[in-house]
Amino acid sequence: MKTQVSKAAEHVNAERLQELFLELAKINAPSGKESLVAEYLKKVLPELGFTLEFDEAHKNFNGEVGNLIAYREGTDSSIPPLFFSTHMDTVLPTEGLKPVIKDGVIYSDGTTILGADDRAALAAYLEAIRAIIDSGVPHGAIEFILTVNEQPGLVGATYMDYSKAKSKLGYIFDSSGDVGQTILKGPYSSRIWMEVKGNAAHIALNAEEGNSAFILAAEGLTNMKLGAIDEETLANIGIIKGGELTSIIPGSVTVAGEVRSFSKEKLDTQLKHMEEVMKQAAEKKGGKVDVRIEKKYLGFDIPEDHILVKNTLEAAQNINVKPYLTETLGGADTNVLNENGLTTITLGLGFQNIHSFRECISIENLINTGKLTAALIEQWYVNHKNS
Ligand SMILES: [Zn+2]
Repeated sequence: MKTQVSKAAEHVNAERLQELFLELAKINAPSGKESLVAEYLKKVLPELGFTLEFDEAHKNFNGEVGNLIAYREGTDSSIPPLFFSTHMDTVLPTEGLKPVIKDGVIYSDGTTILGADDRAALAAYLEAIRAIIDSGVPHGAIEFILTVNEQPGLVGATYMDYSKAKSKLGYIFDSSGDVGQTILKGPYSSRIWMEVKGNAAHIALNAEEGNSAFILAAEGLTNMKLGAIDEETLANIGIIKGGELTSIIPGSVTVAGEVRSFSKEKLDTQLKHMEEVMKQAAEKKGGKVDVRIEKKYLGFDIPEDHILVKNTLEAAQNINVKPYLTETLGGADTNVLNENGLTTITLGLGFQNIHSFRECISIENLINTGKLTAALIEQWYVNHKNS
């Protein structure tokens, strides 16, 4: 088979992209405090031909700035616009970041995170636009959907004003697989909050009235199926909160966890199981349980013959990268965007050990992210012109 080459990807400047990534990684903007990176984008995006709009999502969680939606006209207005999304926040501060490059891999000096999650995507997107412009290839309109407060649980995307987005189809580079990883399926997820109630009493004054909520909860947890429930369902209890004084028999305790599954039915079955075993344990000993289920996000399942997938397979080939289709039980903005009518797939960019001081990304993956972004834009035009 003849190897096709993306003309736009050939214009990705490796040195310029690496410098840009290091510059962006040093901008300190942890979750809810994204104003420095927003300021940077307010300056740079108009220079690349984008018009910018911020929404008011941050007012729901006391953040500094809203989600940024930026739009750039293409050379051909008959092509449907394509969006690229990522989050502007990093999980921890990157203040004082000192990058270290060793054997083609970029690390921090071990005292901060690197912030490759997801500044590497942001840098690659900006470089790809420069490459598109430099190459002169025809293309449709490009939109950037840049969310805030993603790391604590997709919060910015949840409160996004979706009426500001002009495109309906797009990509998020935000996964640890090498460039070529294409994630078509993501899980449903819900939290379960169980308020287990016994009866509070003082051990020396009225112990006979006491009914320890801890003991009730312990029995419920012992009977609960947790961990890998089957090959597509996970369950976990992650929070236990309660107690006042060592002399008080605890009257209540909060036990909370979450379930993830590719199947909505299995998700609901598991949540029901957790509720029932906890209720049985409490009621057997005269206690009770108040249960609240909180939806985190819905699942998505993009068919293999979808235009976004076809476009990815072709674009990857055009930069000589081997694409592979996969699924994840991790949650991402992808879940929330799909739920809100923006059909999105997640792509890998090869960052490693994210959320830790050992975080790193290979220069090869960083450059390939820029190239694949450019090739996706170029191929999107080809696919729509030929159809
Ligand atoms: Zn991320």
